[in-house]
Amino acid sequence: MPNPLVIAIDGPSGSGKSSVSRAVATELGFDYLDTGSMYRAMTWFIQDLGIDPNDAQAVIQSVARLAMADVIQPSIDPSEPGIRVSGKDISVEIRGPQVTQGVSAVSAVAAVRELMVNLQREIATNSKSGIVVEGRDICAVVLPEAPVRLFITADPEIRANRRAEETGQAVATTIEDLAKRDLADSTRAVSPLEIAPGARVIDTTYMDLSEVIAQVVDIARAVRG
Ligand code: C5P
Repeated sequence: MPNPLVIAIDGPSGSGKSSVSRAVATELGFDYLDTGSMYRAMTWFIQDLGIDPNDAQAVIQSVARLAMADVIQPSIDPSEPGIRVSGKDISVEIRGPQVTQGVSAVSAVAAVRELMVNLQREIATNSKSGIVVEGRDICAVVLPEAPVRLFITADPEIRANRRAEETGQAVATTIEDLAKRDLADSTRAVSPLEIAPGARVIDTTYMDLSEVIAQVVDIARAVRG
């Protein structure tokens, strides 16, 4: 039996990468890991402790507490994505504006990334069926050896429109939020969002979701043989 296939997918917010990743995992019968939900869960945990996400020292101390308790548990079932912290389901809370505003600061802390990357590698290695892992640094840092490495993107206005449709927020506010997050994520010192060398770029600006899914499934099948 060949090793279970690992598909690494990076891209900015609103590029469609989450919808594509979930659908591809479902179609191939693979596991699915949304690494953004892990950084969001970490942010929720920090905010729940009353810590300001911009207070890097306090964030580092709380990471140690989280690591000891070993409590971030993402679902890897594409039909039921979600995440628990210490057994509490916070899948809805992590999508709220408070977490969204704090997450870039938390994910820029090296100690946070180290903990998350280790957990992500462990989950990917333990997958028996094959796995789609999506995020910002998957191709370059988390799984650089993945046989399928993709960067899914789209023009900023299209991304903001898609995000606004999902969240119900005004497009203008969403454009601002995305621009802020894009800038923070791509200029941070540790593992910035960038196209990893050798990753294949899929620009979804003029594509339907179904076309993107079909393209990724084709790429995966070609690699798996
Ligand atoms: O994908 P999503 O928008 O939910 O990700 C939330 C945030 O988590 C991103 O804006 C980024 O700051 C962080 N993130 C990251 N590395 C990943 C996935 C997400 O830094 N692999």
